Amino acid sequence: MDATTTPATKVATVKLLIGGKFVESKATEWRDIVNPATQELLAKVPFATPAEVDAAVASAKEAFQTWRKTPIGARARIFLKYQQLIRENMAELAAILTAEQGKTLPDAEGDVFRGLEVVEHAAAIGNLQLGEMANNVANGVDTYTVMQPLGVCAGITPFNFPAMIPLWMFPMAIVTGNTFVLKPSEQDPMVTMRLCELALEAGIPAGVLNVVHGGEAVVNAICDHKDIKAISFVGSTKVGTHVYNRATLAGKRVQCMMGAKNHAIVMPDANKEQTLNALAGASFGAAGQRCMAVSVAVLVGEAQKWVPELVEKAKTLRIGAGTEKGVDVGPLVSCAAYDRVNGLIERGVADGATLALDGRKPTVPGYEKGNFVGPTVFADVKPGMTIYEQEIFGPVLCLANAESIDEAIEMINANPNGNGTAIFTQSGAAARRFQEDIDVGQVGINVPIPVPVPMFSFTGSRASKLGDLGPYGKQVILFYTQTKTVTERWFDDSTAHGVNTTISLK
Ligand code: NAD
Repeated sequence: MDATTTPATKVATVKLLIGGKFVESKATEWRDIVNPATQELLAKVPFATPAEVDAAVASAKEAFQTWRKTPIGARARIFLKYQQLIRENMAELAAILTAEQGKTLPDAEGDVFRGLEVVEHAAAIGNLQLGEMANNVANGVDTYTVMQPLGVCAGITPFNFPAMIPLWMFPMAIVTGNTFVLKPSEQDPMVTMRLCELALEAGIPAGVLNVVHGGEAVVNAICDHKDIKAISFVGSTKVGTHVYNRATLAGKRVQCMMGAKNHAIVMPDANKEQTLNALAGASFGAAGQRCMAVSVAVLVGEAQKWVPELVEKAKTLRIGAGTEKGVDVGPLVSCAAYDRVNGLIERGVADGATLALDGRKPTVPGYEKGNFVGPTVFADVKPGMTIYEQEIFGPVLCLANAESIDEAIEMINANPNGNGTAIFTQSGAAARRFQEDIDVGQVGINVPIPVPVPMFSFTGSRASKLGDLGPYGKQVILFYTQTKTVTERWFDDSTAHGVNTTISLK
């Protein structure tokens, strides 16, 4: 299913978006987009040619000349319209997403909704892209700042949130006055393209939003392109590090949100029922294919006795196609992901972890060909084991033990990743201690997946993030703009003076 071939005539093809038009690629390399619950071929996606990437950037560069001067209210109103169109088309967007990615329909709506929140935030740009002013910094002199757009910006997105993550990027880039070239995941670009159609319908002018598809070669072309000023990347640590190094070397502003191994600390005083519910939802939801999934729970002291109840909770989850009502855990995105996750489970057993619940090869009537792995729980996991060291990105929860909160915090801070974390406790003192000492970007207190809402920015520590500023929220306004500081004086009799040969303003 991962083969790249030229499209057969009857299969739908995913288009490029260049200069306001959805165009057929002239690519010779194509990839199948396959329903992961059924292996049905949905469409083929091209790996755009270098000339197509250049054409997309050229169209964005030209559109920038007028878009950058478009009044802020006019920009805001497009996103007001856009949020309405996304709401009106929510069910269709979720259905496309589930077909190509696999997550359940309610979770697909959640994926779209978390992106929609950023679109709503973009519509409030009038309150966000504001400079500062200081009056009388010297005699008759005022200083003020303007936050001007950079030019052509680009976004590179992962497969696991094909609606939310593109919506983290292009609305905020465009509403601040930039133009954009998006490179969606080649695994599930169809919902992203539907969102782009709706963006044009909302009034985004031709050339302001462009889309190219592809893999490594297209990403490298974006990193190197002299007319692209900034890149926002979300994906694995390996690829993000490459993008960061290559694109910063080419002089670009870059932000990379990357891989994770999110730990939750379970204190023995936590509300047991709520904690077990939270762990099951956050570990196995979306089949564990969330960058904020809980993949390690560190059980402190007496909480180590909760393993059998956690396993019982995991067993209650229903595995199946995302389109079926009542399903909790859908398929993994691809056969390659299925093989990788099964291989890591085997490796966990070989490394000596206790397989408390084996989710391999579940029976899913009617969907025998789907890439299903059920909830899997490993107990007695220790640093050094492959299942602890690698991001599994599947429905596999590793349980580790600690005797104290200190030991648990030390374990988390010693892990290279710093994307998300959570503590479950009824103690305010323990929670405060945790949020103060933990070196992780997103911190939850009795909240397992603390993805920030759009008035804040997504962030990350250590191997989970490169670049200073996060996507969406206040930080992204700084990311997508250049601050210009203007110092001005208007001469009249009171401000006139003779020659000044010093650096001081008089
Ligand atoms: P990925 O790194 O494989 O792909 C991300 C993007 O990079 C895609 O558009 C892909 O086409 C491109 N790409 C892939 N290989 C490349 C290469 N060799 N050279 C250049 N470009 C390449 O990631 P994925 O598998 O799509 O997504 C899962 C990963 O993303 C996980 O590690 C997950 O933790 C991470 N993620 C992080 C966040 C976050 O906010 N920190 C959010 C979502 C996903």
